[in-house]
Amino acid sequence: MTVACDTQTAWFQFLEFVKERSSATAFNNWLAPIQVLEADEERCLLEIPNIFVKEYVLSNYKKELASFFPTRENGEPALDFVIRTPKKEPFTPAPCLNQATPKVKEEKFNEVKLNYRYKFSSFIEGGANQFIKSAAMGVASRPGQSYNPLFIHGGVGLGKTHILHSIGHYVLENHPKLRVQLITTEGFINELVDHLRQKTIDRMKRFYRSDVDFLLIDDIQFLQNRLNFEEEFCILLEHYANNGKQVVLTSDKPPSQLKLSERMKARLEWGLVAHMGVPELETRVAILQNKAEQKGFNLPHDIAFLIAERIFNNVRQLEGAVNRLNAHCRLLNTPLTRDLVEHVLSDLFQHTPKAKITVEEILKSVATIFQVRVQDLKGITREKSIAVPRQVAMFLAKELVQDSLMSLGVYFNKTHSTILHACKAVEQKIQEDEKLRKQVEMVRRHLESA
Ligand code: ADP
Ligand code: MG
Repeated sequence: MTVACDTQTAWFQFLEFVKERSSATAFNNWLAPIQVLEADEERCLLEIPNIFVKEYVLSNYKKELASFFPTRENGEPALDFVIRTPKKEPFTPAPCLNQATPKVKEEKFNEVKLNYRYKFSSFIEGGANQFIKSAAMGVASRPGQSYNPLFIHGGVGLGKTHILHSIGHYVLENHPKLRVQLITTEGFINELVDHLRQKTIDRMKRFYRSDVDFLLIDDIQFLQNRLNFEEEFCILLEHYANNGKQVVLTSDKPPSQLKLSERMKARLEWGLVAHMGVPELETRVAILQNKAEQKGFNLPHDIAFLIAERIFNNVRQLEGAVNRLNAHCRLLNTPLTRDLVEHVLSDLFQHTPKAKITVEEILKSVATIFQVRVQDLKGITREKSIAVPRQVAMFLAKELVQDSLMSLGVYFNKTHSTILHACKAVEQKIQEDEKLRKQVEMVRRHLESA
């Protein structure tokens, strides 16, 4: 089951929480009429019947809101309010041919909206994302000179948008003369449609061609369903490439798997295509502790470990888990115990941890996928066809078996430093070798299904 840890979910959790603790009349008068108009990870837009509702909510539930919602730089919860407009009589305006073209949201062009929380400094590194972070820092420090475009792909909630915004912040701070623009593919398409409708498309094109030096494009996979805009994107990317201007894109899939034209795919593959992996257990623990620290919430290592073992493929959910635990402990004044974690986070835990994986199982799976013999993996031959799978087995043993390097070494008749060396070598190789990366993934899946 996937659980959305966005602000809409936070709002409903907040309501649930308050409902249990306030009188039915108060709840029905003040909170029940509020409607969610828009919600994403960043903010929640609420529609309220009148301004008093806003004041009531903000002054009575300040502490609770801060626990359920992300907070803004000014410490306020990420909530916005609009007052519901009374329904108007439908009316048809008289045709007016000379009407001036409505002012297109020009101000939108010039300001780049970067999330202040998404910076390199708050991005926790581990084996699975180190390469991406270095590549991102590379293009941010030498725009247009290393990989152009940089294409980052990976699953949901793994930090792609975080890295994209980090690049934006870095460039603004370190190359103040460069004009940075960040767009989401959906937002850009909507803007294109607006400008087409208002016949101001040339102005928009001019802006993106002449007034931007560094373009960050989030979620290019959305172009797949809007193919009539593909040409526009392609021309834009070509313009940037030809003028040595940097482009960075994110996507949930690599270019080769996107349903786009060959021309577009080739364009996207031109620079560097980098994969954002799922963070390993240790990195997940570090992320949890970092997020807890940001909230001033003390998350002991063993509890962080327990959560990280059970939420493994989505950092956003790790964040959601911290928020939820924080809310429970603070508001109910309960101590943080393993039982509380099980109770409060049970729906986030994808499935109970499977029986611990053993080195023997890893050796068997590696042998099956790489078509080698287990005894060779334990042996000493340095032949590449054996040595690489052996390193993969060591790498997976370190990741999946909670044992010291020293004890792992015993299984392979190797020292702990050899194991460590093998792990580093595999981490490096899978960044560059797509086939090997897939084989490692296959071993993982093979182990899961065993
Ligand atoms: P994606 O764009 O890949 O779906 P996001 O960049 O939106 O994912 O990340 C989801 C959440 O997880 C964000 O709040 C982000 O800050 C956090 N996050 C992801 N990876 C990391 C990381 N390595 N270190 C710290 N926070 C992370
Ligand atoms: Mg994203």
